[in-house]
Amino acid sequence: MPVGTQGTVKAVPQDTLESLGVEIILGNTYHLYLRPGHEAIRRMGGLHRFISWPRAILTDSGGFQVFSLNSLRKVTADGVQFRSHLDGSSHFFTPEHSIDVQIALGADIIMAFDECTEYPASRDRAEESLHLTMAWARRSLDHFRAHRHKVPWTDPKGCCIQCFGIVQGGMYRDLRRQCAERLVEMDFDGYAIGGLSVGEPRELTLEMISEVLPLLPKNKPRYVMGVGYPDEIEQYARLGVDMMDCVLPTRAARHALLFTSEGRLNIKNKQFAEDQSPPDPACQCPVCRRYSRAYLRHLMNAGEPLSATLNSIHNLAYYLAIMSRVRSSLESEPATPASDR
Ligand SMILES: [Zn+2]
Repeated sequence: MPVGTQGTVKAVPQDTLESLGVEIILGNTYHLYLRPGHEAIRRMGGLHRFISWPRAILTDSGGFQVFSLNSLRKVTADGVQFRSHLDGSSHFFTPEHSIDVQIALGADIIMAFDECTEYPASRDRAEESLHLTMAWARRSLDHFRAHRHKVPWTDPKGCCIQCFGIVQGGMYRDLRRQCAERLVEMDFDGYAIGGLSVGEPRELTLEMISEVLPLLPKNKPRYVMGVGYPDEIEQYARLGVDMMDCVLPTRAARHALLFTSEGRLNIKNKQFAEDQSPPDPACQCPVCRRYSRAYLRHLMNAGEPLSATLNSIHNLAYYLAIMSRVRSSLESEPATPASDR
């Protein structure tokens, strides 16, 4: 899922995302709540209509940004008090309020409100955070079930908005297992593994995913939040992860970093000054079919806005091509016997 923080996947228009085959984007509740405001978006028919995106949208709970952007936050059992990074105004998010905001935005998939445990965290700290996340998951789900019909759109097939729970537990395998088991008992529509890619070594990320994944039902979506590099997303998808989101392809693109079949290119490098080859000779994206490395380097060095757009389109196409390859190879493998499901 490309990340569309403020109702836009930065520098890439919606019709381009559609032509690249993007089926779902992620919107950030924290940012949209502060600006333009969830009630304004509700009055305009929800996020799909407001940003003109007819395909699927997932919104996060706002928790991750509250914790990462706010040094002045105050956490209680009830919720989190924080100040806006825009104007310093004071706000209070509870699990119920996060769900209300997400229902007003009208995404197709919304996330339970959780506390993303920082890294490193002591066992006591991770355990305390885990209990908060599990209590908030229960409250999020109860509130979601009571209010899901209030989405600002009507679905001819009946209301199909879904709520996913988020497995936390720091880097402690038993805490992760405990959280996964409790969330599965609550019967969410899908499950995410959160609190990863927060600065831990990559082997630990893999260890936590491998620990949790077998505990989550295979017949529901399994989503790892905030990962990763191209080789990581391929590895996790092959383990059975169905969904991932990451700002990396678009953020790296704006900082001159292109992911290619020949490795990472820093397109600002002098070696590309007169390089007429496409950014990635093996890529079929509209940028690689039309433009040269020399031109992309020139745009970046001249500070032209088109630079961000073209680099982002290529990186997104590169990520989507990886997932498309994984999907075809999984489809061609023999089906898993029913007893293993
Ligand atoms: Zn390309």
